[in-house]
Amino acid sequence: MSTPKIQSVRGMNDVLPDQAEFWDLFEETIRSWLKSYGYRPLRLPIVEPTPLFKRAIGEVTDIVEKEMYSFVDSLNGEPLTLRPEGTAGCVRAVIQHSLIAQQAQRLYYMGPMFRHERPQKGRYRQFHQVGVEALGFDGPDIDAEQILMGARLWGDLGLGGISLQLNTLGQSAERAGHRAELIAYFERHSERLDDDARRRLHSNPLRILDSKNPELQEVILGAPQLIDHLGAESLAHFDGVQQVLRDAGQPFTINPRLVRGLDYYNLTVFEWVTDRLGAQGTVCAGGRYDGLVEQLGGKPAPACGFAMGVERLIALIAEAGGETTAPAVDVYLVHQGADASRLAARVAEGLRDQGIDVLFHCGGGSFKSQMKKADASGAAFAVIIGDDEATAGEVTLKHLRAVGEQPNQQKRVSVDRVADEIMNSIVDWEES
Ligand code: ATP
Ligand code: MG
Repeated sequence: MSTPKIQSVRGMNDVLPDQAEFWDLFEETIRSWLKSYGYRPLRLPIVEPTPLFKRAIGEVTDIVEKEMYSFVDSLNGEPLTLRPEGTAGCVRAVIQHSLIAQQAQRLYYMGPMFRHERPQKGRYRQFHQVGVEALGFDGPDIDAEQILMGARLWGDLGLGGISLQLNTLGQSAERAGHRAELIAYFERHSERLDDDARRRLHSNPLRILDSKNPELQEVILGAPQLIDHLGAESLAHFDGVQQVLRDAGQPFTINPRLVRGLDYYNLTVFEWVTDRLGAQGTVCAGGRYDGLVEQLGGKPAPACGFAMGVERLIALIAEAGGETTAPAVDVYLVHQGADASRLAARVAEGLRDQGIDVLFHCGGGSFKSQMKKADASGAAFAVIIGDDEATAGEVTLKHLRAVGEQPNQQKRVSVDRVADEIMNSIVDWEES
């Protein structure tokens, strides 16, 4: 009887090298994009006290009701949760370290989040987000800047077809007026609601608007609209955001049913959506959450932010035919014979000193089998060292790809010229 294999947890995926190299490139793009707007990185714990999420996200939400991986620390009995999103932890950290006591902050983080959902394409139990938060700014200018940041990133990633949906949630007093009307409306149509909606009818009726159940869409469409309950200040903020977007030539659609899955939002909410990923089409979502800092025990401070789903964006890049694998190493180093191998080890280090990436053949074998591996590696060059070369203090440089010369061209080069030869070939090729 063979030992049973252990599999990864359902909905939690391994990212294998072909993909992970691309994730690295993606993350580099993200970092330089965020830096270009003055955002600074934060690294936060993956486990937080459970009450943090209950307080921040709200008890009557999908996340807190049924999606959190919560457990009790067996050593001290503390209730803990694998973070389902990053804003709560970010705000906790900002308060804990008094980060906004002196000045407003633009911050970001990225990493895994955990939600116990039904796994499907674009929806996983461990997934990754890039989270972007601005704390201490209250005007519509920062909301608009954050929205426009998205547009720039889609350009940087070569993505088209991502459209912007916008809404405002006003302030809680304004929502209260709307809430009463909404409850009355849904009560009149209670036979058309599902169990989730009926349960939320009195605790969180706004969230019914966010339902994904297709059978509810018609009744939702007829629901009273929050915008009719907004006062002058909320409307001015909303107009301010739209003005900047229009000035920037950024198209958007106002979607009155956009209420977002979390409770902490007010005023601006937005989503970037594509129809190229099937049902899971929201790649980026965010908005303003002015009450959260105070709700988590800090001195009141306005804030807004957004989070992007990394898996969905990477799927979109692949779907758009973008490059999803990173280039291979520059050189595969083939060598045989004791002296040749010692020289090869020196040559490999010398090339790396010059910034050339080298895959050093390990494990011996014939020249022929090593050359096969060199070809399969994707390297642009093979550097070949046998006894002949070792005696002459030379290497054979062979073009495996059409870099500068035709593939399969080869020549002998002295050991101290090989880095230059390779660099020149690469430059010629990049210029051609
Ligand atoms: P949905 O309505 O799709 O459940 P949400 O409102 O729960 O989304 P947010 O909490 O706003 O999502 O998360 C921000 C982004 O993170 C989403 O727009 C999406 O791109 C991504 N995301 C959320 N949940 C998952 C998941 N389970 N798997 C993969 N990506 C996710
Ligand atoms: Mg969700």
